[in-house]
Amino acid sequence: MSFPKKILISLPISLSLCLCGFSSLILAKVRVVTTTTDLAAIAREVGGPHVEVTAITRGTADPHYVEAKPSYVLKLHRADLLIHIGLELEIGWLPALLTASRNGAIQLGSPGNLNASDGIDVIEVPAVVTRAEGDIHPYGNPHYWTDPRNGVRIADAIAQRLGEIDSANASDYRVRAEEFSSRLADRIAGWERKITPHKGKLVVTYHKSMSYLLRWLGLKQAGAIERKPGIPPSGSHIAALIQMMKTRKVPLVLVETFYPRKDPTMVAEKTGAKLLILPTSVGGRPGIKSYIGLFGAIVKEIAEALAAPRE
Ligand SMILES: [Zn+2]
Repeated sequence: MSFPKKILISLPISLSLCLCGFSSLILAKVRVVTTTTDLAAIAREVGGPHVEVTAITRGTADPHYVEAKPSYVLKLHRADLLIHIGLELEIGWLPALLTASRNGAIQLGSPGNLNASDGIDVIEVPAVVTRAEGDIHPYGNPHYWTDPRNGVRIADAIAQRLGEIDSANASDYRVRAEEFSSRLADRIAGWERKITPHKGKLVVTYHKSMSYLLRWLGLKQAGAIERKPGIPPSGSHIAALIQMMKTRKVPLVLVETFYPRKDPTMVAEKTGAKLLILPTSVGGRPGIKSYIGLFGAIVKEIAEALAAPRE
């Protein structure tokens, strides 16, 4: 008895297809999409070999403003879990991408949608929700990842949610989150010691993006180049800021890599303050590849700038 030729040819093909399907089932990873690189870095620490993580924004970009690209829609369409900062940080671009993704699993309220701000102690919450004049922090300050102690809370939330989506690996996610948090806690103590001699010193920032960072380090925000979050400075605002900085002898201006340099440079020159261009996200500068590495760079550079004599 002999098999028809057609069957003999198709048998190895169907067998290999079957094996491929089988192996992809075993190796299937949870597809995680995050809005920012910091959330992606923490998700990789917690998810390890069980996840495939992509961030939508780059560490060099302002996360408030992102140009929605078709490739982002595709990423979200395929995602099992979306992790976002919340507090309206991504309000200008994420809702439209979510709708376009046509992925029910990651819509608001679904298990595949994790708002990482849940459980965070939010600061600078206005008494009344207001977007007056275009204020982009109506529910409080959304830049909470700049306090590494919040990195521990974010890791916990990600471990919890990954465990719900992929229960087979729930204990592994929990162990990995605890291991990451313990490594982070060790470094936090060292970073705090480094800044101790500078506690109470005054700092001006461009945007109110470093409020959590400054609060953690015991530094004080004396003012901001922006008039209000998201609102560019006016001439009179800059003049008043310069006057205040001279009077209070503010030694440092901190500006993120993506903000315009003209006003900060002028303000620093007129007041004798040092201008430090600082990344506040993973990937904000080449070589900053992890959440722990980000704070290593931030603390080292702030400590050096505050130790340097005023010009
Ligand atoms: Zn902001």
